[in-house]
Amino acid sequence: MPNAIYPGSFDPITNGHLDIIERAVAIFDQVTVAVLINTSKPGLFPIDERVELIREAVKAWPSVSVESFRGLTADYARSKGVKFLIRGLRAVSDFDAELRIALMNRKLNPALDTVFLMTSAQNLFLASSTVKEVALLGGDCSALVPEHVAERLRKHPKRRTAETTQATLPED
Ligand code: ADP
Repeated sequence: MPNAIYPGSFDPITNGHLDIIERAVAIFDQVTVAVLINTSKPGLFPIDERVELIREAVKAWPSVSVESFRGLTADYARSKGVKFLIRGLRAVSDFDAELRIALMNRKLNPALDTVFLMTSAQNLFLASSTVKEVALLGGDCSALVPEHVAERLRKHPKRRTAETTQATLPED
């Protein structure tokens, strides 16, 4: 089977992303998880840390590598000679945006096809944005991300502790 690229922001990697990677590993020879460097959206974790967290999460799969890239996904795929992109689908709500991205990528690089993989039911509502919101408000994310990612979220300097959350509540 050919090789594929799984592009995204992965800020941070979640069990939903890993679900998609595991399915992709069963289909493709080599899977490159590619973290998009988006200078206008700095995100919670710096790119190098996101790459490191993904590497740790995928270390059991020798056919998976992790890189970061700048610019258009279509150009990045061309430079690597890869003809398949992987994207994950959660609810129907993902479909509209994903279809637009896939068609634009194909226009920019006609050799490129996007393969959509469905997540499992337990990851249907899991997104990095939700994980970040819960974690920064002091919530427990250990069921949503790999343990080393949950640990990094617990230690994040932007995380509110129980005391800071209570201190900002209005007095009775
Ligand atoms: P997000 O911030 O929405 O998690 P990413 O850019 O990191 O977005 O996502 C990269 C790809 O992974 C996208 O195709 C996205 O739809 C997919 N994805 C993210 N979370 C899940 C999940 N829980 N199940 C399936 N696919 C997912």
